[in-house]
Amino acid sequence: MKIASTVKEVREIVKAWRAQGLSVGLVPTMGFLHEGHGSLISRAVQDNDRVVVSVFVNPTQFGPNEDLEAYPRDMNHDSAFCEKLGADLIFHPEPSEMYDPDFTTYVNMEELSKTLCGKSRPIHFRGVCTVCTKLFNIVKPDRAYFGQKDAQQLAIIRRMVRDLNMDLEIVGCPIVREEDGLAKSSRNTYLSEKEREAALVLSRSIFLAEKMIEEGETSAANVKSAMTELIEKEPLAQIDYVEAVDGVSMQPVDQIKAPTLIAIAVKIGKTRLIDNTIVEE
Ligand code: AMP
Repeated sequence: MKIASTVKEVREIVKAWRAQGLSVGLVPTMGFLHEGHGSLISRAVQDNDRVVVSVFVNPTQFGPNEDLEAYPRDMNHDSAFCEKLGADLIFHPEPSEMYDPDFTTYVNMEELSKTLCGKSRPIHFRGVCTVCTKLFNIVKPDRAYFGQKDAQQLAIIRRMVRDLNMDLEIVGCPIVREEDGLAKSSRNTYLSEKEREAALVLSRSIFLAEKMIEEGETSAANVKSAMTELIEKEPLAQIDYVEAVDGVSMQPVDQIKAPTLIAIAVKIGKTRLIDNTIVEE
């Protein structure tokens, strides 16, 4: 497995693969990799002849008061992890390699970025769309892999690829959870022991929603209020949103039917965590 830090190196390596007629998969990440990322990498290794994992804490998707500096990083662990899973190349650029000092072109999505996480993180999805466009242009993959853990991000990337005629397939992968239900996240490392326990309120409320819907509940208001009630019982939890939206347009719905996305963001102490479930046919 190789590690490249420049765009030029990546282009040369991918060009050589293409000359041999090999297919290429891309897994974009911010590093500090865990089994959630691992599931994307393994799927990419299954589907493609060669796999590139990008490890880049992308500054343009962090707001001014967010955790860009504090975001956990561990390249030694990440490279061993990728190698073990069969990735062929890690792209690990410095921010200056990705953004020239006079960088000024952004990819901005209108409607889908205004709800859910986009409400409390107004520039987040502009940064995500911009960096993914850059990564797609640098690697030119046949397929790129994203987790349903970040369901709004996945919907936005799918729409961007469709709207801008980008020539690749987007593959969505299911949420990987800890044994007790908490969705795996690099940000879980911020949690103290007490907060880690309190964080279970996220998955518990998601499982409650799934149970209510399975038992025939179709009112978004009823499901949201039951989830809210459960989360509010946890003193360390502070709700950012509890929402039911259409799984494609990301706009709020009153009636739950496939493909409704039930999504939540909750702060546990200072750590903002997200979780969700998609209602299927
Ligand atoms: P991140 O490094 O947090 O930007 O995540 C990189 C990719 O891994 C994104 O597509 C995420 O949705 C995905 N991912 C992160 N955590 C999980 C998880 N617990 N299960 C599935 N995919 C995940």
